[in-house]
Formats: sequence, structure tokens, C-alpha cells
Amino acid sequence: MHPSPNPPSVDLAVAGGGAAGFFAALRAKSASLESRVVILEKSREFLAKVAISGGGRCNVTHHCFDPARLIRFYPRGGKELRGAFHRFQPADTMEWFSSRGVALKVEADGRVFPVSDNSADIINALLAEADALGVKRNPLRGIQSARPAEDGFVLTLTDDSTLHCRALVLATGGNRGSGGLEVAKNLGHTILDPVPSLFSFHVRSPILEELAGITVDPVEVRIPALAARESGSMLITHKGLSGPAILKLSAWQARALAEKSDQVALEVNWLGSAKEREVHDEMDRLRRDQGGRFISRTPMGGLPRRLWERLVQLSGISEATTWARLPAPQRDALATFLVCSRLPMRGKTMNKEEFVTCGGVSLKEINMKTFASRLHPGLFFAGEILDIDGVTGGFNFQAAWTGGFLAGNAAGEYLG
Ligand SMILES: Cc1cc2nc3c(=O)[nH]c(=O)nc-3n(C[C@H](O)[C@H](O)[C@H](O)COP(=O)(O)OP(=O)(O)OC[C@H]3O[C@@H](n4cnc5c(N)ncnc54)[C@H](O)[C@@H]3O)c2cc1C
Repeated sequence: MHPSPNPPSVDLAVAGGGAAGFFAALRAKSASLESRVVILEKSREFLAKVAISGGGRCNVTHHCFDPARLIRFYPRGGKELRGAFHRFQPADTMEWFSSRGVALKVEADGRVFPVSDNSADIINALLAEADALGVKRNPLRGIQSARPAEDGFVLTLTDDSTLHCRALVLATGGNRGSGGLEVAKNLGHTILDPVPSLFSFHVRSPILEELAGITVDPVEVRIPALAARESGSMLITHKGLSGPAILKLSAWQARALAEKSDQVALEVNWLGSAKEREVHDEMDRLRRDQGGRFISRTPMGGLPRRLWERLVQLSGISEATTWARLPAPQRDALATFLVCSRLPMRGKTMNKEEFVTCGGVSLKEINMKTFASRLHPGLFFAGEILDIDGVTGGFNFQAAWTGGFLAGNAAGEYLG
């Protein structure tokens, strides 16, 4: 099929109907009310990730209003986002949704959700605003390619139609298969190879067998080969390890782990930051004060009983051994298991996990005040298509709202 010589034209095309694309389109239209703004979405559904996010509750942002502190939650893009967060930050996101009728609540750990615990509230607010402003939405029309043309770009869409636009926002998310990265690459942008971030670890070890469901808090998990460590709560799953400590490690070490094909040795300190010397001191105290008690029934450090029994058993200590009768070799073995259990990571698991992409369009080619391309006038980027990702807690959506808002604002000004 030949493209028509005079394709239909709009002022702004936003490729991607996710969080970033919606914010870009809404802001651009508000800043340039006469402009024709259209969202081009590859799939049938808009805002699909918002719908499933936060287990259907949508952790829409994080209650952290200090840009200098906020950027510490972004393994990629933090430094570059600092200025952007001075222009649009979590307080602005909360104000945006609250003023459109979405009541928000802040949980104890700083995560922000709709009071209803229902992501549909966020989606409905975005759709209602799009209707009120007259932002057009085209499902099942993704972007396949973009060619710079006179006064803008000519797009080829996934239904093989063509569309001319004066300005273009690429907000197709981080997914390698989305096609958006290919479009950016063909326009001359550098793409940092996308790899997953925020995933659980696949681990098989006798230490973990049949312990799925147990949470230990806090632990320290180390990856000696990467000189990396994180602390926090950790969950033992059917396939290995998950929970905040693991997700943080996966995010900060996303690229390094991908380079090692996710095959690394882990060390777990089940007692958080306790040193082996301190564990021995505590064992001395138990021998003195509680010598007649069975070791298998007196977990140290408040460890879950089943995990403790497993470590005791693997240290070669029988169920009937008391603290007073603990032989030195077994005692040393137990102390080592407690502060340094060695576990082999054999891959990632992310079936139901929240995961995002490390990598994407290089920020070196983006003006982070406007999220405009430094290569093409009228081209903007927002959201996960960029080499920006955060840890869990609402930081990924915040990056999408911030980028979308600033890109949309600049696109609106560009259109005049
Ligand atoms: C299960 C899960 C739960 C999550 N929960 C949270 C959470 O609670 N809080 C949080 O902060 N983050 C969360 N995240 C991360 C967050 O969802 C993303 O960081 C965020 O959605 C990125 O927004 P985006 O608009 O850049 O991309 P997306 O939301 O991925 O949107 C991109 C859109 O572009 C469309 N598209 C793709 N290719 C094309 C194309 N060629 N042309 C046109 N359209 C295209 C896609 O279909 C999609 O609709 C979660 C992620 C997952 C997977």
C-alpha cells in the first residue's frame, strides 16, 4: 500500500496512551487550546498499566517533595531529573488528581494511592480530562515509523495509514517490542539496551526449601561479585527470593546482573547488620543464661521458627541439642549460616512482579527542561521510553507524570 501524498494532519501526535502519553497530551492541549492533539495507541486499551499497577490500587506517586531526596530513588535518570522535579513533582501530581476529584491517601511508607484503593479512579480522571479538553484518542493505531518532513513529521501507523503532525511526543513505554525505541533510533537517537529492572531472584537451595511465604525483616543481601548490598525485608517465594531488599538490588544492579546473565552468588545475613563476632557473643550469653534450652526452640534475633530450625539442622545440630552442649564446629557453622548464607542466583522471575525497564533513549540527547529531542525540533519524549527508572514506591509513575507534563507543556508552546 502506498502512503497517500497528502496524509491527514494534526498539530500534535502523542504515540502511546499510557501515563506519560496522557499527561503530555492533556498538558499540550491545555497550553495550546486551538491545537488538534491526538493520542495514538497501539493496543485496544488506554492506560492498561495504570489499571494493573500497585495490585490494582495504583501507587500513583510518593510523598517526597524534596527534589534532592527524590532523585535518590532513581537508579537511572535521578541526576538528570533534579531540575525537572523542581518544575513538576509529587506535590503537583497530588494536586492535579485531587483537584479533579480523586481523593488520595499517603501510607506509612510514603506511597500515595487513591483513597478508594482503585486504579479506575486515576484512569477515569485522565479520560474525563481528555474528553473535557477535546484530546482525540485512537486505539489500535500505533506508530511504526516517523520521517522528518516539512513542518513536522510524517508517521506510518500500525494500520498502514499515514499521518502528518507538526510535533510528536514518543511515550511508548520501555518495552523492547513496543516499536517506539525503533522509531527513536531511526530518528538518530541513541538507545541504551533495554533490560528488566525490579524483579525477583530465582534461587534454588536447601536453605529455602519449603519455606515459601516466610518474610524476614531486616536482612542484608550482598552480591560480592558486584560489590553490592541492600537491606530491608525479604520474602522467600516458591521460586526463590523477593521483597523490598531484593527488588532494590535488582533495580540498582539491573545492568550488571544482565551482563552476568543473572548468574551470581548471593550472601544473606538473616540478622540484618549483625556481625559474626556479635552472634558468637550472643551464643555465649545463651549458653550461660539458657544452657538447658533446646537450640532448635530458641530462635536468635526473632527469626521465624521454621527458618531457624532449617539453619540449625543444616549446621548439623540435632533437635535435642541444648545451648550448653553445642559443640564448637556446629556453633561456628550456625553463626556462619546466620550472617552469611551463600545462595546461588540462577535467573530472574517476574511473573506477577512489578517490573520496569532499565535503558531506553539516552538522556544525553534530551533537553531535560522540556523533554525535547536535541536532534529534531518538534520531537519530545516522556516516560519509560527514556533511560529513566525508579525503585518501587510510586517513583516510576512520578517520572512519567513529570516527563509527560513538561514535554506536553513544551510541545504546547512549540505549537503556539
Ligand atoms: C505490573 C506493574 C505494576 C506497576 N505498578 C506501579 C505502581 O504502582 N507505581 C508506579 O509508580 N509504577 C508502577 N509500575 C511501573 C509503571 O507502570 C510504568 O513505569 C509506567 O506505566 C510508565 O508509563 P509510560 O506511559 O511511559 O509507559 P506505559 O504505561 O507502558 O505506556 C505506554 C503505552 O504505549 C503503547 N505503545 C507501545 N508501543 C506503541 C507504539 N508503537 N505506538 C503507539 N503506542 C504504543 C502501549 O500499549 C502503552 O499503552 C508498574 C509496572 C507494572 C508492569
